[in-house]
Amino acid sequence: MSDPTTMRIFCDDPKHARGKIAEIDTLTRIEDGEWITNEQLIAKGRPRQHGWRAANQPWGGFRHAYECRLCGTRLSCSPKRLNGMLDGFAQHGYQQVTLRALVLLASTPRC
Ligand SMILES: [Zn+2]
Repeated sequence: MSDPTTMRIFCDDPKHARGKIAEIDTLTRIEDGEWITNEQLIAKGRPRQHGWRAANQPWGGFRHAYECRLCGTRLSCSPKRLNGMLDGFAQHGYQQVTLRALVLLASTPRC
């Protein structure tokens, strides 16, 4: 059994009309253990559509910023944090995760 190498992020919040599911993103784990978006895979450069560069961060680091257009659920976290969370799900055999689960995890202090 090999680890899944892709992770689908979706949102199935009960607030969505008619039980709709919103596709948020699908990330692929590359050889060095980093999760990158399909956009990054294609462009081999900086992600454009879903992220923003935090001007107020002294390190000017890129942050992932996802927002569900159906319910407004938002996730904002560093690539390092997202990598860690996705690794955790992948280690348990998951190939998909809800945006809500990531938001909850990202807001939980690490123990
Ligand atoms: Zn949603």
